[in-house]
Amino acid sequence: MWVSVLLSVVVGAIAGRSIAAEVSAHRKQRPDRWWDPECDVCDGSLTATMIRCTPEGHPQRVMTPLLTVISGITFGAVASAVPSLWVLPAYLVFAAAMVTLTVTDLDTKLIPNRILGPATAISGTALIVGGLIDADISAVVRGAAGGLIYFGGMFLLALIARGGLGFGDVKLAFLIGVFAGYIGWGPLVVAAVGGFLIGGLVAIVLLVTRLSRRKDSIPFGPFMTLAGIIAVVFGDDITRWYLR
Ligand SMILES: [Zn+2]
Repeated sequence: MWVSVLLSVVVGAIAGRSIAAEVSAHRKQRPDRWWDPECDVCDGSLTATMIRCTPEGHPQRVMTPLLTVISGITFGAVASAVPSLWVLPAYLVFAAAMVTLTVTDLDTKLIPNRILGPATAISGTALIVGGLIDADISAVVRGAAGGLIYFGGMFLLALIARGGLGFGDVKLAFLIGVFAGYIGWGPLVVAAVGGFLIGGLVAIVLLVTRLSRRKDSIPFGPFMTLAGIIAVVFGDDITRWYLR
């Protein structure tokens, strides 16, 4: 178990660089760059530490060293919670998607289809394959149901909110619902309710401290992804604590 967690931390740390490259490609509306982030300002390459670019020394908005740490921790945490090693690859793709989409949403207030689409297809297929090898049919069915339930709920909210909630958030809910639901019904509830709890708390803090005015829109995606990771890693524990 600890071997897979340790390996996942390493894979996550390496993936951090790819995530930074993808986020900068999205911001500049360029084709995918799988490994080499470009400078945010010019098109130069970056220094070894990836904090500045080599030609002009422009400081970078997407901090690759920070992403490397966050991604390593996220991958390791998710790996510590998977029900079986057969679904570990699926959950690592899910972790990569959560980190990437959090940063693109904070950076550009968008959850791009070009990242969410392939991430959902690849991680979903890997999860079904892993679940079938495990012969854990009930988990596969629960995952599919979880995705549809969270998607359906957010779809209704988006209709009611009329523009207050982007359709990117609705599609993101499907992916999170699948991976939280695969673990259990409790984690699914933690993912769905947790997003609103964390989002509400942060909105209140921002309004009270006047860091944000009522009119400013706060991207909701990062709260959903954070709650999704918490649900996958601690969802069972939180459910047990709540029902105790
Ligand atoms: Zn530059």
